[in-house]
Formats: sequence, C-alpha cells, structure tokens
Amino acid sequence: MVDTKNQYLKIKTEVDAAIHEVLDSAAYINGKAVQDFTKSLNDYIGSTFTIPCANGTDALQIAMMALGLEPGDEVITPSFTYIATTEVVALLKLKPVFVEVDAKTFCIDPQAIRKAITSKTKAIVPVHLYGQAANMEAIMQIAEEHNLFVIEDNAQAIGCDYTFSNGTKKKTGSIGHIGCTSFYPSKNLGAYGDGGAIFTNDEALAKKMKMIANHGQEKRYYHDIVGCNSRLDSIQAAILNIKLKELDNYIVARQTAAAFYDKAFANHPKITTPFVAPFTNHVYHQYTLILKDADRDGLNTYLAEKKIPSMIYYPVPGHRQKMFAAFGLDKYDLKTTDWLTERVISLPIHTELDVEQLSYITSEILNYLNK
Ligand SMILES: *Cc1c(COP(=O)(O)O)cnc(C)c1O
Repeated sequence: MVDTKNQYLKIKTEVDAAIHEVLDSAAYINGKAVQDFTKSLNDYIGSTFTIPCANGTDALQIAMMALGLEPGDEVITPSFTYIATTEVVALLKLKPVFVEVDAKTFCIDPQAIRKAITSKTKAIVPVHLYGQAANMEAIMQIAEEHNLFVIEDNAQAIGCDYTFSNGTKKKTGSIGHIGCTSFYPSKNLGAYGDGGAIFTNDEALAKKMKMIANHGQEKRYYHDIVGCNSRLDSIQAAILNIKLKELDNYIVARQTAAAFYDKAFANHPKITTPFVAPFTNHVYHQYTLILKDADRDGLNTYLAEKKIPSMIYYPVPGHRQKMFAAFGLDKYDLKTTDWLTERVISLPIHTELDVEQLSYITSEILNYLNK
C-alpha cells in the first residue's frame, strides 16, 4: 500500500546525517531535534501551540484528558473510522456516541451530530478520513451553539487545506479547539517509528496538555495533575523535520496518482471514485473506491493474486466492535456506515507510484470488474 523504502532512498543522505547528529549529541529525549521539529510543524500547521507526543492515539487521549470531562460524559464521533479515535473515549470512561458519515465524503455528517446531542454531550471528534476535511465550518457552528469542544482527528490529513465560506483557508488540525495527528510510518508525514502531535490555539489547554504528556508536571518532580508519559524521541523528530520539508511534494505525488486512478475509472458503472467536497482539498492518505454491483471481496482476493495490495478500511465500524458492547450497540442504526463498510476498497497510494505500476493496477481492476 505504501513504499517507504524507495521514499527513504531519495532523502537517505540527509536523513542518515540527521540521525547521526542525534546520536552524537546524545540528546535522545527532548533534544534540539524535537524543539526544531515542533517549531517547524507549528509554523506549517499555522497553530499557536504544538505539543509533540509518542503517537496519534496518545495525542487523542491527552487531548481528551485535558478537557476536564466527567465519567459518562458523551463524545460524538463517526463510527466509520480507525479504532483509535473511539477507543480512547472508552478508555477514559467517557461514552462514545457513534454517528453517521456522509456517503460521498466518508466524513462525519453535521446533521447527524445535531441529532445526537444530549445534555451529556461535551465534545465532538471529527475525523478527516482518508485525507479530506470534514465539514469543519458546520461542525464549529454546532459546537459553538451547544458549547462543545471539537477535537480534530487529523491523523490521515496532515497538510490538507480547509476553505471557509468567507474564503479564509486553514490547515486541518488548526481549526478545532484541539487537533491531533500521527506520524506512524505509513501516514502522509511518517516517521521511521512512532510519533504524534497535538495542536491548539488555546494557551491554557496547551499548558495542560504539555503537562499531561509529561507525568502532570511543569516543574520537575512536582506533579500537579495525573498525566502519562508520551514523548516524541529525538531521532524521529530529526527524521520528521527533513520529511516535513518534503510534505507538500509528497501530497502532490499522491494527488497525481489519484488523478491517474480517477481518469482510469471515470464513468465506470461499478466504480465511484473519491468525491472531494468543495470546502477541502484531498491529500489522499487513502484512495478509496465505492463498488456497486460488484464482488468487492472477490476483487480484493484477485488483486492479491496479481501481487497488487488492496485494503478494506475499515471492515468493522465502531458501532459493531465488541469492545464497545457496554454502550448499547443494538440501538444503533447506521445505514450509510454499514453500506460503505461492505463496498469500500482502498488501492495503493503513495509517493513512489509510477505510471507503469498505476497502469498495471488499473488494468487488473478493470479486467476483474468487466469480466
Ligand atoms: C493512525 C490513526 C490514528 C492513530 O495513530 P497512531 O500513531 O497509530 O496511534 C488515529 N486516528 C486515525 C484516523 C488514524 O488513521
């Protein structure tokens, strides 16, 4: 699905030198590389504060810990997302409330959020799924009306631009009260190990999240609140600082591959190619098709036989996961989510795809579907 090896080879000299610099400095934890990367990332996202942490799941957890919520408080999230988004809600003894996504964009449906709000609702977690932004303007409006926090799960959409109706542009992750991202190797800005970051424009939240990520301390050995240990290590930060300079090029490479797929599958009766909403661009963390009147799992198997990777993101939505059994899943009737779950398939998308590979992939898919 990704080709991190060939991507690495193109920046190997710079990356290897940066790693060696960290080794020579012996500042393995919270060294200069972490500070440099944090600053560059903060500038790139256009956020006021950026807090690095150990991974994207921790970023979400730290964000939710900072909101001062009580057990049983409700957090509205899409059911159609990676498990990390919703798992941390349950881990913190909060209640995940699963809502529908828009059938075209795969992102949380603002109307569904409105319907799910109760007196216990405290936060909304929109996920910019596959690399395009959820309808943030509508979501922020709802949050303001009901006095709710918004935590953006930006793990799949770093670098994505959101355009407000007045023409203002912002990077996803800098729009909600808090934004979270992941540097898992296959993400658009991937480390060579784990990493994550949290964004906010709120000084008090920034201070609290920084403390939470560091055992609840501001002054060493004085622990004012219960926190955790979540650090980005210096080697990963040094690598990420080099890759951040490439991120916009990486996005263009993904968009170019996506355009090839779009063209090859245009107007095919069995294929719906990704729809991009007018308020966002798409950074194609995933390139995901919806298949109609086709054997999706058969195609998945056929492609594997042809040595073409393809994935089902995600085969089981949140409201059907056993881990959430305590939350009364029977009451959920999320038709769009279930419908998508049975029909989506994601194709290889990364920065190293060439025309030959793309032609082979598209022709085999068309072969199978036209049989
Ligand atoms: C990858 C991902 C996460 C979690 O990030 P990790 O770094 O793997 O912990 C959270 N949410 C979404 C939508 C993701 O894709």
